[in-house]
Amino acid sequence: MLPWLKDGFGNPSSLHSFGRKARKAVEAARATIAKCINAAPEEIFFTSGGTESDNWVVRGTEGTLVVSEYEHHAVLNAALCEARRGRKVLAVQPSGRGIVGARQLKTTLDAISQAGRQCSSISQDESPRTGNAGLVSIMAAQNEIGTVNPVRALSAEAHSRGFLFHADAVQAVGKIPVNVSDWNVDFLSASAHKFGGPKGVGFLYAKDGKAPCRLLDGGAQESGVRAGTENVAGIVGMAAALQNYCGRMVESAAALRLLASELADGLCDLFPDAGVIGPSRPLERVPGFVAVAIPGHPAEGMLHILDMKGVAVSAGAACNSKETKVSHVLKAIGLADKYATCTLRVSLGPENTKNDVKRILSALKVIRQKGRAAE
Ligand code: PLP
Repeated sequence: MLPWLKDGFGNPSSLHSFGRKARKAVEAARATIAKCINAAPEEIFFTSGGTESDNWVVRGTEGTLVVSEYEHHAVLNAALCEARRGRKVLAVQPSGRGIVGARQLKTTLDAISQAGRQCSSISQDESPRTGNAGLVSIMAAQNEIGTVNPVRALSAEAHSRGFLFHADAVQAVGKIPVNVSDWNVDFLSASAHKFGGPKGVGFLYAKDGKAPCRLLDGGAQESGVRAGTENVAGIVGMAAALQNYCGRMVESAAALRLLASELADGLCDLFPDAGVIGPSRPLERVPGFVAVAIPGHPAEGMLHILDMKGVAVSAGAACNSKETKVSHVLKAIGLADKYATCTLRVSLGPENTKNDVKRILSALKVIRQKGRAAE
């Protein structure tokens, strides 16, 4: 990225040599990213990240909108906005194991009345996907419990009812194999910082280059559907990061699954009544992801103690002096509040080692001893 931050000031839309050089770098990045997910370069649209990609699809399509209850807020809040504007929005409930499968989607689609499936037309120069029943948007991998959903089966179910299918793959791209043609998705969102790239840049895959309706009006960038001068350094960095993550995905996944199971086992040894949240089968979980409820130990307190020891984790609930706000994801999978408030989430990455797992466990051991002393 450095040359593009230091000297590469050319605007990719400019015709002079500096501009042409920047354009070349942007298009090379587009081709690299496309290859990593088995897409064509013209199917990749650069955005400012997962939030923008998700919003673009949700707001830029028409007809009934079907989302899952545990989508990221980038999808959920955009869907709420659409509902306020009068669009019909339905939510699919995940299973208790944290999966949204074709069965769960089918139940929701079955409930949609014929009247709710009409889609109004959009003017022709917008060239979005028209004539569909609507959009189903279900995440490929869940960001709080690490579930990997069966995207191919979900898109098949959506298509069989005339719906387009969008996968929020922010937590999947770079971590598990993502093949847009195998998955047969119409749209897919990704964010660079989730696979070791810079923050504030991402992309939207749109099948056959048919993007949703324009989100940003202005210049002719991104085939005229997403205006604004490209973030050249960010885009170049994102492509390099994705290539790096995809190149070592197989070894990383194997190593991370091992580390995650050592961590989960160690946690359950330390806290015998601890319970791992989400699916137990390794292939249904993003490699390196551990979400665990440790009854009797509020997660936010553990988070701060671990933070003081240089270990960064997340909690399933945020507390302030007035209330405890439990994550909508844990609620959606039916986890009782008393467990949700004690849920810690650890995301191990390719740079983590066995020593890091030992460090986390020894920090938690101190927490357990303190808890015992307080009893
Ligand atoms: N979707 C999912 C599943 C996420 O985990 C995130 C971020 O954590 C987003 C969307 C939003 O991505 P960004 O914050 O990069 O815009």
